[in-house]
Amino acid sequence: MTCNSKRFCCLPDYHIHTKLCNHAEGEMEEYVECALQAGLKEIGFSEHMPVMPEPHLCISYEELPIYVSRVLELQEKYKGQISIKLGCEMDIVSGRLDEINDIIRDFQFDYVIGSIHYLNKWPFDQAQYMHQFKNADIDDIYNRFFDAVVCAAETGLYDIAGHIDNIKRMGYRPEGDLTSYYERAAQVFKKYDLTVELNTSGFDELCGEQYPSEEFLKILRRNEIPVTAGSDSHNPKHVGRYYDRAFKMLKTVGYESVVYFKNRERIIKSLESLNGCYESDGPEMR
Ligand SMILES: [Zn+2]
Ligand SMILES: [Zn+2]
Repeated sequence: MTCNSKRFCCLPDYHIHTKLCNHAEGEMEEYVECALQAGLKEIGFSEHMPVMPEPHLCISYEELPIYVSRVLELQEKYKGQISIKLGCEMDIVSGRLDEINDIIRDFQFDYVIGSIHYLNKWPFDQAQYMHQFKNADIDDIYNRFFDAVVCAAETGLYDIAGHIDNIKRMGYRPEGDLTSYYERAAQVFKKYDLTVELNTSGFDELCGEQYPSEEFLKILRRNEIPVTAGSDSHNPKHVGRYYDRAFKMLKTVGYESVVYFKNRERIIKSLESLNGCYESDGPEMR
């Protein structure tokens, strides 16, 4: 098993998938072992919930209780070594809000990540569908994407806005200034008291940078939107990927704290005071 080498452990990795979604590899233990090797003190599993328009890409309703009990078992098994949270990644699909509500009510998540992976059932972030960007009006696509981001936030159903400029994943960006999209999103995150995820998976994708972009992150900072972090791991070796860059980026744009979660409550930790390590279940560790 190849894992990431030691990275900045003061950031949690709250975006980790499992093979229960049918498009990730490795055993859940391997993700935890890689997190330990990467020097992380707190991680969270965040499997795709069964509300995705493509059911073969997410966990099934039958497997959901199994997922939850596996995470709870791992929490016990690794107690004292690493803190493991129970999270989920929820597609905020307008026609399925009752279902989403039910899932959130039935399981005691530590946090819920809200994500947009589809525009009118178009999986814009999957390579086999990227041809639809060609000859399309990219401004129009961005408008629709940010409409979806705003609508999702207004449901008030989730805690963390996942890969918030995911529409850039395939490398398509409109010409010119994107500030108005970012400002609009920041306003709504502020209003609904959301946390934003610094997601490092974009470095391995065609967009070639973290989500959100530095410019977007600056606007979020100015609006005092709290941040947390995730690698969007679909393989154990992804855990904590590019956390050195993530940490530097947060400092560069002026962030002084990072958010941890427990029972859907935010725990704000100053980056300075962490001096390396923190887990929300125990004392600060050096
Ligand atoms: Zn996935
Ligand atoms: Zn996602």
